[in-house]
Amino acid sequence: MKNHLINPIFQIISQVAKEENVKAFVIGGFVRDLLLNRDNKQDIDIVVLGSGIDFAHLVAAKLEGDIPVKFFKNFGTAMLNYHGWKIEFVGARKESYRRNSRKPIVEDGTIEDDQNRRDFTINAMAIDLTAESYGQLIDPFNGISDLKEKIIRTPLDPDVTFSDDPLRMMRAIRFATQLDFSIEPSCFEAISRNAHRISIVSMERVSDEFNLIIQAEIPSKGFRLLDESGLLRIIFPEFCDLKGAEIIEGKGHKDNFYHTLAVLDNVAAVSYDLWLRWAAILHDIAKPLTKKFIQGTGWTFHAHEFRGAKMVPHIFRKLKLPLNDKMKYVEKLVLLHLRPIVLAEDVVTDSAVRRLLFEAGNDIDDLMLLCNADITSKNPNKVKRYIENFNIVRQKLKEIEEKDQLRNWQPPITGEVIMKTFGIPPSKSVGIIKDAITEAILEGEIPNTFETAFQLMLREGEKLGLYQANS
Ligand code: ATP
Ligand code: MG
Repeated sequence: MKNHLINPIFQIISQVAKEENVKAFVIGGFVRDLLLNRDNKQDIDIVVLGSGIDFAHLVAAKLEGDIPVKFFKNFGTAMLNYHGWKIEFVGARKESYRRNSRKPIVEDGTIEDDQNRRDFTINAMAIDLTAESYGQLIDPFNGISDLKEKIIRTPLDPDVTFSDDPLRMMRAIRFATQLDFSIEPSCFEAISRNAHRISIVSMERVSDEFNLIIQAEIPSKGFRLLDESGLLRIIFPEFCDLKGAEIIEGKGHKDNFYHTLAVLDNVAAVSYDLWLRWAAILHDIAKPLTKKFIQGTGWTFHAHEFRGAKMVPHIFRKLKLPLNDKMKYVEKLVLLHLRPIVLAEDVVTDSAVRRLLFEAGNDIDDLMLLCNADITSKNPNKVKRYIENFNIVRQKLKEIEEKDQLRNWQPPITGEVIMKTFGIPPSKSVGIIKDAITEAILEGEIPNTFETAFQLMLREGEKLGLYQANS
């Protein structure tokens, strides 16, 4: 392995280990990714048989520049940044668990103890950095063969591993999805048996892993595993409710669970954006709530986009996702997700396109991506028609955008102008007048200029019994 440790930091660590007469190893994700030839995220985990904090300080002293060491006494860990590499130091430890907490009792241990506490065989490999045995791979659980066979497996009894720290169940599925590995069958059965234990893990930690699953190349793989193991029902029941297709009078509807997964994969194929992927996950989330069978018509999901948008903050809060502009973005895309397709089904008028552009603003391109990804029909004629109409919408969007510049558009008359002109305080009338002006411009009834908008404002004011102040 020697030749693979090209980063000079490894030599420096080796040097310090020699001077201090302790042993040091690089372990975990870095070793795994090195053997996989996978792009490394510049995280290096170092285990020493001794104090990780003292060791980190000695390493920092040997590096050029004044490199600060961040350390956490309670955890016995220390971290430093070196040329963009995040290097973490910890003393080898032995862990034992209590039933109701994922926080272990920790004592000093050997490198074997430390490898025993690792989650998966492929994450338990270490490379020795000690001078005499520099570069030697220490692989007690044959992780290298699991890497070759693309298998996720725990080093010890999986029931114990998952029960001790249930977050490892999410991690198993996360690695299987990220690396496109399979989970060894008895290991997967243990996940299914221990799924209920996920409730002792904080939702923040669960969501961190969930988001990594969502950011994988083919996220549906992770959703299927979460579903089959029973974890999905516990962490995100609303998504499980999308499952199933009912048939009444010979008419069925699509299974929205698998439809949503197809949409998510479609979006993932064209964008890495986590929040666009969340919009795909949630776009039909209110379908179970709004589902109705109407005689003569068939299945309807009336207003599922409105109900769905309303569910977004609730779901974000439960999953401990950020309640910020990212959430607002997802809400907006869920609310608007039908609009481009409805538009495409009809005659595409300028005013409808203007309206869409006004409402979507800067998110119009993402909305179009989502809407395109939403076409999962198996009927080739239908798909062809959709795509043709869609291209018309795209063309129209482009034309109108160039002509009217409606992205981030604001009506020419502000609330302040309205209040000042009529000498009124902030009130409902201000909103009514402003909306009327916006409507008229979007509908193309008046041009988008201050003067015509001002005249319309006067007429609308009059209807409400308002007259220009000081005149
Ligand atoms: P990534 O590429 O996502 O960083 P990683 O394998 O480095 O993957 P980390 O969460 O950074 O994952 O953890 C570093 C190492 O610590 C892992 O490789 C594994 O050996 C160990 N580890 C992390 N979390 C756990 C856990 N919950 N239980 C046991 N071992 C763990
Ligand atoms: Mg890591």
